[in-house]
Order: sequence, then C-alpha cells, then structure tokens
Amino acid sequence: MNDRLEKLRRKIASEGLDAILISQGENRRYLSGFTGSAGFLLISEKSAILATDFRYIEQAKNQAPDFDIARIEGEMQKWFPELISSIEAKRIGFEANGLSFATHHQLMTAAGEKELVPTEGFVESLRALKDDGELESIIRAVEISDAAFNEVASTIRPGMTEKEVAWELEKSMREKGSESMPFEIIVASGPNAALAHHKPTERAILQSEPVVIDMGARFEGYASDLTRTICLGNQDEVFGKIYHLVLRAQLAAIAAIEAGMSGEEADSLARTVIEQGGYGDNFGHGLGHGVGLAPHEQPRLGKGSKDILTEGMVFTIEPGIYISGWGGVRIEDTAVLENGKTRVLSKAKKID
Ligand code: ZN
Ligand code: ZN
Repeated sequence: MNDRLEKLRRKIASEGLDAILISQGENRRYLSGFTGSAGFLLISEKSAILATDFRYIEQAKNQAPDFDIARIEGEMQKWFPELISSIEAKRIGFEANGLSFATHHQLMTAAGEKELVPTEGFVESLRALKDDGELESIIRAVEISDAAFNEVASTIRPGMTEKEVAWELEKSMREKGSESMPFEIIVASGPNAALAHHKPTERAILQSEPVVIDMGARFEGYASDLTRTICLGNQDEVFGKIYHLVLRAQLAAIAAIEAGMSGEEADSLARTVIEQGGYGDNFGHGLGHGVGLAPHEQPRLGKGSKDILTEGMVFTIEPGIYISGWGGVRIEDTAVLENGKTRVLSKAKKID
C-alpha cells in the first residue's frame, strides 16, 4: 500500500499540487485498503487521512493502518475546513469523475481560501498496472467464472429462459466463492444477441441460434470478465461463418499484441480481420478494456485510444459481430501482458 501512496505523491508533486482528495470508491480502496462504501482520503506529502462516518470507524482502523482516521458527519461544509486546516496545503486536487454535482457544490463552498483543482485519472493510471497480489486475485476470479461457465453451459437446454440461465450462472459463481457480481450477467439469445449490452429476459432459448453469455466473478474485490457464444443443436451456416471470423480476429489480436502498442493499434489487429471478412460495420465497440477492482478500467483498447499497453496490465480481448434481426457473436478472454506478450487467463470452453 505504501508503494502506491508514494507513487501518487510523486504524481501530485509533479502536477504542482500540495494534496489530493480521493472520493472514488475503487481508488479509495486501492490506496488505503479500506473497503467501506463511504469516505474520503486526503493525501499530502506528509500525511494520509481517511475520513469516514461512525459506521466505518472500526473497519477503517483495521483495514487502513497507514492512514490517520478522521470521523466526519454530515455535509462537507461542516468537516472539510477543519480537515484541510490540519495539513499544509494550498492547491488541492479532487477527482473530477468521482464527485456528484451536489458534493462538488459542497466542496467548493467548504474550500474557503484553498484552491481546488480538478484532476483526472491519477489513481486510475496507477491501477492499470497490477502487482502480483492483484494478479492472483484476478486469476481466482477468472477461474471461478470459467468453472461456472463450463458447468452451466453443459446444462442449458432449449426452452430455458435467458433469466433462468443467468441465475444458474450467478448461483454457480457464488457457490464457487465469488463475491457479489461485478456486473449484471448478460444472456442474449437469438435476435437479442445483436444487442451488445442486452439484459436477460423471459425469452426461451431456441435451437440453432446464437446465445451470447457475458459474465464475471469477483474475488477479494477483483473482477473477471468472460464472454462465450454458444449454439444449442445444429449451427446454421451463418453462425459457423460469423463465429469463426470473430474467433480468428480474437486469436490474431492475442498473438500479435505486444507491450508498447497503443490501445488503438491493438484494436486494429482484430478489426482488420473482421473488416477483411466483410463485417467491419458490425463490430461496433472497442476490442477490450482493463479489468481490476472495476470490471471496466484503464487501459482502453479501441479506436482513438492512446493508452500504451504496458507490462503488468490486465485487459480483455473481445471482438464481436452483431447483425440486426439475426443475433451476434462475441468472444471475450481476460489476459495479462507478461514478457512483452499477452498471456490469456480465461480457460472456459470455446466452440472449436
Ligand atoms: Zn464481458
Ligand atoms: Zn468486457
């Protein structure tokens, strides 16, 4: 944890700030170890304070030994002036993406003479690089979702509804040790599979149609993210063609992604294959995204992304093709960048 604080302090100093106020939940947990759902960190060159309300004081003391714990109550105007007067800081950063409009208003009112500076991505860019402990937790989450997929996929029969399948997957992941779901499971059958972020419905799954299943487990706070597309009974010609094009695009990206590439370059490795197959317009989202405490985080692999893929990053590789009225195919693995190349962590069965 200390190492993370030191990196953040260097970042604060290099941006000409004296301190930073952290309000975003995963960032708070990443820096302090505190898993409670409310609180702020105030970090300066010399101090590290975790401010939270009475519900969490004991938990904060136990989980965040590197921090001084301050008890706060009510609106920011009541406690923020005292908190910042306890440290020497004139220019204080806050997280532009981690505050509601109402809280921002309170903060501005409470700031008094202090200069508050919006910041973006300070902690998120640190979080993109995983240490060994984080990688271990992600691997456990990946193993849970892989095992649950393999177990449930073999029991899916025509007539089961999308919701029933989603519930079986959730039960299986929870039984295997997953914490609460990092995102709502997607089970999208037939024409519904054309919608990349479909919510499970009462629709009964039919034979010979695509079924996109997108699921993730959570272990010690860390997420996994897995998509498989299955087909009950005989695959029609369209399914076979689309499935193998998506798979070829995914394998091409997995084989060619290297440390030092931008997110855009990585994306284009798969996109080129799909374009050459004639379905470029049907791959409407990016190739992937980082996975960690949040199921979607840095880096972004997609058009226009200048994020540089770096040793120790964990991200998904998930090309897809979506055809309105027919359905879609997406195949998603979680991978880590190691020794300059990707190592795929996901082992759930794919169609050959
Ligand atoms: Zn996913
Ligand atoms: Zn994903």
